[in-house]
Amino acid sequence: MSLNVNTITIVDIKVSSSAEKPIPNRQAPRRGTARQEALRYRLTVLPCRPFNTYSFRVFAVIEKDVVIIGAGASGLMCAATAGYRGRSVLVLEHTAKIGRKILMSGGGRCNFTNLHNGPGNFIGANPHFCRSALGRYPARNFIELVERHGIAYHEKTLGQLFCDDSSRDILQLLLTECEWAGVEIRPEAPVTQVEAIDAAPYRFELHSALGPIRCQSLVIATGGLSIPNGGATPFAYQLAQQFGLKVLATRAGLVPLTLQPADLEHFKPLAGIAHEVETRCGTQHFREALLFTHRGLSGPAILQISSYWQPGQEIEIDLFPGLDLFDWLKTQRETRSKSDIRTALATLMSKRLVHTFCDLWQIQGILAELGNKRLKQIADQFHHWRIKPSGTEGYRTAEVTLGGIDTDEVSSKTMEAERVAGLFFIGECLDVTGHLGGHNFQWAWASGIAAGQTV
Ligand SMILES: Cc1cc2nc3c(=O)[nH]c(=O)nc-3n(C[C@H](O)[C@H](O)[C@H](O)COP(=O)(O)OP(=O)(O)OC[C@H]3O[C@@H](n4cnc5c(N)ncnc54)[C@H](O)[C@@H]3O)c2cc1C
Repeated sequence: MSLNVNTITIVDIKVSSSAEKPIPNRQAPRRGTARQEALRYRLTVLPCRPFNTYSFRVFAVIEKDVVIIGAGASGLMCAATAGYRGRSVLVLEHTAKIGRKILMSGGGRCNFTNLHNGPGNFIGANPHFCRSALGRYPARNFIELVERHGIAYHEKTLGQLFCDDSSRDILQLLLTECEWAGVEIRPEAPVTQVEAIDAAPYRFELHSALGPIRCQSLVIATGGLSIPNGGATPFAYQLAQQFGLKVLATRAGLVPLTLQPADLEHFKPLAGIAHEVETRCGTQHFREALLFTHRGLSGPAILQISSYWQPGQEIEIDLFPGLDLFDWLKTQRETRSKSDIRTALATLMSKRLVHTFCDLWQIQGILAELGNKRLKQIADQFHHWRIKPSGTEGYRTAEVTLGGIDTDEVSSKTMEAERVAGLFFIGECLDVTGHLGGHNFQWAWASGIAAGQTV
């Protein structure tokens, strides 16, 4: 029997009575027993016993320079980079769908990077960790790649770049690059076990749906925990722990906030209304749209601040950012003194919002009857709306996972584990979380490239 150990060869061998009996079957090895022959070819034999026969499913050991677990943004970028360097690369994805989050992203148009991307757009215990990889692969490099593939794109707002057409264009770009680089991608190929081995040049042996796989470099690109029904798993964290790396506590980030029942009763009727605000939590602040929902608060301003919010904390919302509402109300009192304050405010924000907040804070009256002290009080209420969320919507709707593999354990230049040669972690599984606006993909590209240049 001749086997190419670089490809998967599955042979079902039926033996009449014992696994140790010579095999008369023409398909079977010429010499010795099935088990001996299998061992000679370094094959794994998984016996089972249907009725009175033995059946062996025999997998050839797959040998690759690089195995990447996770066919998402960072994994595919890393695969193409390593493939172009002449490395034999196999990408294993446990679901049937490659790049699912890329397809979901940016409302179907993939916000693939941000013109203003920099280390300041990331959250993590070590804020300097992302500096090296981002510096070597900045946003303009990915934009060049997008342009080389003829993908039309536009800036939506705040430097956020989206495809004109579909997220599918970005996934196709990555798949094309992988194809040109000779990368093999296998969907529906879960990995059940990873072991460090001493079989130079191979450092790892994986047990997978494809059988045993040996590789010199192993890259973990399985992402975080958000969208669990889309294929997210804690694989990266578990594997890191298996190899003695520290994993920091994880929580949902870029996620809608839920409200306490009393607040929800008040604001639920506003579901679907958006308004530009500035959200603040600690020293962080974001000026973008807030969206009222049936469960609480969402929209970019809330998603951004959610990554900084801790349970039990209040957030502060300026409902009129960039405006001195006290000055504005005084001017209104001079120019339209007989107007109701609610009517005046309704020229600045939706009437339903005005009524909800004015009912909440008992604001009413003709402008002429409201003194400076009262106008200042009203202005302060709109500029400093403080609310204590009850929680977040969790990983079910979160865009990212905060926390993760401690970056102190990983080289910022190569993404290789400091104490485990050949083991790499890239993308969202690391304790590097970007702001909303294309920063998370930029991290996936940059960390994927950094590892791809080294594996
Ligand atoms: C709805 C949504 C919209 C988003 N929009 C944007 C956006 O517009 N811009 C932006 O910058 N970011 C966006 N993000 C965030 C962005 O998608 C992620 O930060 C990015 O995909 C992370 O890349 P990654 O390679 O680390 O992980 P992923 O892209 O999540 O890829 C991980 C891959 O590993 C696979 N996997 C998981 N476990 C295993 C396992 N045990 N074995 C094998 N394979 C496994 C997964 O199925 C997946 O294919 C969005 C996220 C969501 C959820």
